[in-house]
Amino acid sequence: MSDLPVIRLRGDKERSLLRRHPWIFSGAILREESGIERGETVDVVGEDHSFLARGAYSPSSQIRVRVWSFEENEQIDASFLQRRIERAVSARSSLATGTTALRLVNAESDGLPGLIVDRYGDVVVCQFLAAGTERWRDVIVNAVLQATDAASIYERSDADVRSKEGLEVRTGLLAGQEPPKLVEIVEHGRRFLVDVRGGHKTGFYIDQRFGRDAAARWCGGRRVLNAFSYTGGFAVAALGGGAASVLSIDTSADALELARRNVELNACEGEAEFVEGDVFAVLRRYRDARRSFDAIVLDPPKFADSRAQVDRAARGYKDINLLAFKLLAPGGILLTFSCSGLIAPDLFQKIVADAALDARRDAQIVERLGQPPDHPIATSFPEGAYLKGLVCRVAQ
Ligand code: SAH
Repeated sequence: MSDLPVIRLRGDKERSLLRRHPWIFSGAILREESGIERGETVDVVGEDHSFLARGAYSPSSQIRVRVWSFEENEQIDASFLQRRIERAVSARSSLATGTTALRLVNAESDGLPGLIVDRYGDVVVCQFLAAGTERWRDVIVNAVLQATDAASIYERSDADVRSKEGLEVRTGLLAGQEPPKLVEIVEHGRRFLVDVRGGHKTGFYIDQRFGRDAAARWCGGRRVLNAFSYTGGFAVAALGGGAASVLSIDTSADALELARRNVELNACEGEAEFVEGDVFAVLRRYRDARRSFDAIVLDPPKFADSRAQVDRAARGYKDINLLAFKLLAPGGILLTFSCSGLIAPDLFQKIVADAALDARRDAQIVERLGQPPDHPIATSFPEGAYLKGLVCRVAQ
């Protein structure tokens, strides 16, 4: 046994660890030593004192320990973190074709709980989202630098989840040069300007690569409505695929301004229009005005942050999907997404089915979409699956 502080679990709570799930909730703990520091490495043992895992302690979080390793003889040190980061980065080497934007480390699913590392060309953005990654921040930055040869490493530890870990918001340069105000990326021939300092997440919805590919394939010749546009990822994809026009809606004027620049950057032929407004209200207005579209993209923000919000989120998804079905011309295509992990794929499909039913449209699912392989889901960590999409076609 090591000389690390020990956390002892209740016998009936050992099962998930034996299945290599990386989270230990506070309610599973039978005994813990006092005075363990935030982010400190601890040994987790069963009620019978047998070794189960080694992880990072987080005194303020409901997730009291996040597991680094299930191997008793594995030390958690700089070389361990280097190995894990190297493993994650090299697993992406074959995925980098055609895109300069790639997730290099996907937290729990890459054996690095609470660490996100995204690459935008030679700018790399890190998020330290849990006590353990925070404690090893300097070591991690060095390891990322070694594994990537990045010109800049920038920190975006400003996600809400940090407060649950008792950590403050922090952003800024970690290594190398200050990144440009907007970083240009290329993805499957599409060019985008990304605001790594102030954009959502680390700047761009890298995870929607397959969604954008699908939009390019399905939107040719169509009049497209792109709801929840952000910086125009789907607008550029649809126009690149030959859409006749794309109308993008978002509440954020800044996002729409960057969307406009992204559309210009790609010099497409179709028309682009940008509407600042609330999707729920704008779609109702279009319905009342009997407008119609040949394709609609619905890629809203996460509607459910907690179990308590699932019902309300489901009503939100139902509402926008119902409006979209009403707005589609015969033979129209709906590309509809949910990035709420708490809305399971079968529930999402049921919501979309109910929306079609209420809109009195015959609809078929013609394609299913999800996370691309740089956003893997560890089989032991089903919580890592959050993004799902359906491409539906309504009858002629
Ligand atoms: N589809 C985007 C990502 C969407 S992020 C992409 O592919 O890049 C969610 C976006 O929805 C944000 O830009 C946010 O400003 C916007 N948003 C959130 N609620 C909204 C609402 N009710 N109406 C319009 N836009 C909204």
